[in-house]
Amino acid sequence: MAKRSFKAESKRLLDLMVNSIYTNKEIFIREIISNASDALDKLHYVSLTDENARNNDELHIEISIDKEGRRITVSDNGIGMDMEELDKNLGTIAKSGSFDFKNENSDDKTDIIGQFGVGFYSAFMIADKVTVLTKKYDSDVAYCWESSGADGYTITECDKDTVGTSVIMHVKEDTENEKYSEYLENYRLRTLIKTYSDYIRYPIKMEVEKTRNTAADGEEPKYEQYTEVETLNSMIPIWQRSKSEVSDEECVKYYKDKFFDHADPSAIIRVSAEGIVSYKAMLFVPGSLPYDYYTKEFKKGLQLYSSGVLIMDKCEQLLPEHFRFVRGVVDSQDLSLNISREMLQNDHQLKTIANNIEKKVKAELLKLLNNEFEKYEAFWKNFGLQLKYGIVSDFGLHKDMLKDLLVFYSSAENKLTTLKDYVSRMKGDQKYIYYAAGESVEKIAMLPQTEICRDKGYEMLYFTDEVDEFAVNVLMEFEGKKFKSVAAEDAELQSQAEKEETEKQREENKELLAFIGEVLKDSVKSVIISDKLKSHAVCLSSEGPVTLEMEKYFASLPGDENKPKADRVLELNAAHSAFTALKNAFVNDKTKAEKYSKILYAQALIVAGLPIDNTVEYCDLVCDLF
Ligand code: ADP
Ligand code: MG
Repeated sequence: MAKRSFKAESKRLLDLMVNSIYTNKEIFIREIISNASDALDKLHYVSLTDENARNNDELHIEISIDKEGRRITVSDNGIGMDMEELDKNLGTIAKSGSFDFKNENSDDKTDIIGQFGVGFYSAFMIADKVTVLTKKYDSDVAYCWESSGADGYTITECDKDTVGTSVIMHVKEDTENEKYSEYLENYRLRTLIKTYSDYIRYPIKMEVEKTRNTAADGEEPKYEQYTEVETLNSMIPIWQRSKSEVSDEECVKYYKDKFFDHADPSAIIRVSAEGIVSYKAMLFVPGSLPYDYYTKEFKKGLQLYSSGVLIMDKCEQLLPEHFRFVRGVVDSQDLSLNISREMLQNDHQLKTIANNIEKKVKAELLKLLNNEFEKYEAFWKNFGLQLKYGIVSDFGLHKDMLKDLLVFYSSAENKLTTLKDYVSRMKGDQKYIYYAAGESVEKIAMLPQTEICRDKGYEMLYFTDEVDEFAVNVLMEFEGKKFKSVAAEDAELQSQAEKEETEKQREENKELLAFIGEVLKDSVKSVIISDKLKSHAVCLSSEGPVTLEMEKYFASLPGDENKPKADRVLELNAAHSAFTALKNAFVNDKTKAEKYSKILYAQALIVAGLPIDNTVEYCDLVCDLF
């Protein structure tokens, strides 16, 4: 009997596992039981079309402990494996990509087992040898797979009467740090199974030690030990049980186990719908951001069950793009089992469910927003960007669904605020919802353009994500109020008297402005006397559809051809001493006025967070002032 070696990746993983970077050893039982349950599912599925696969025995899982022999056995009467499958399934770990990921991130304690489907190997965390006896449903031959860890495994023919698989784990001896013997305790193992595998749909049976009183009534109690086979799990999937029966804690536990999240979900959504389509759903808004969420690798979708049998692991059609972070299960008896992916595309019932789910998710998020704002802020930190993308996608098709869920940083509240709350706080004379865009809240707060708005006591929304400005462009208005950038030419932040004063200044300084415009003709579209500056000398704004923030956004995208650029406007504060100096120079010394113009433009670039075209020239200009 030749010894086979594990395929390369498996070997490394086994080493890792045995040397236990993974601290939570007890989950081995969940993994082995889940595999047994999968095997029963598979047999059930095959038996729908293949008579030979029908099992006369009830499909079930059996656990036994041999304390003296230090063995734990998990048996199922499921589909079983033939020689080839044994070799392939228990000799390889296919997902090497995921494995590499783990390796690169070896300092975090993510659940590599569940995440990467390498559950079987977790047995080696508590066992120094694992034996698998298995017989496939359509075969007469049984096989024995055996391995003591990284050095390889053997496969031999063996005797086994019944169809199915037994996994025998030879439990390690105790060490100073690890008491492996605890798993051989009947009570301890039972508790673990109840904890991890309660919702497995097949009975998990085990001989349980019990005590009973054999004395007749009125006599001294006389206790006797006996054993009895018990079904440990409640079997009904958690989403099938009624709301009143399942506590939030249980749902949270289910979520964490099932989706391998260390954080509690931000929201739990339970649906029990009766009507054109009847279904039950248990959905979760994750409490942490999946590491690959904003990448192509992330696949959205909900698990789809038909009467308790899994038909699809990630059914995409059940979730709109803007709620793609939602995880969970949908179970409907109205869907046929042998449904194909193509059929699902056009399935009417599925669409009804999806529409319903979209509404439920929105309602739940609104509830969170209104009742538990801190939790909503945490949610927003993870998935807010997704909702904003939702607003701009499909030409604004989903904006009514999503606009109430938007929050932005408010200059008045110094925290996130909804658009509704903003509008409710608007001043009597305030026409627009004002916003200012920039890299960070701190930087925006210091922008010269925000000064006049603050002076008037108007609240501003601070936009720090590139998509923000696009999003409000698509929204156009909220409760009848239009959005307006404080930097916009028509921001209308001045009083009538101030407006007239600006107009007067613009008229009076026409020649000067034209002169500056000529000096800077390669850089700016126009030069104006500003209507929004108070104490600062200059700022940069834009005219036309592309703003400076958008320009930065486009510049950050890959590729370098035909990037849209903002038409720049240099705004000058006529009341500032710098302007007076420039004005004097214009009369007395044109060369000096030219230099001042260039310097002021450079100042405006710096304030706007844009690069200066020619830094050497700029330095010389400034140093010439001395
Ligand atoms: P996963 O369950 O994520 O596929 P595992 O490492 O847990 O990964 O199991 C590897 C494979 O071994 C399974 O996909 C299955 O094909 C096979 N297997 C494991 N346990 C059993 C079992 N009890 N009966 C039949 N096949 C099994
Ligand atoms: Mg598994």
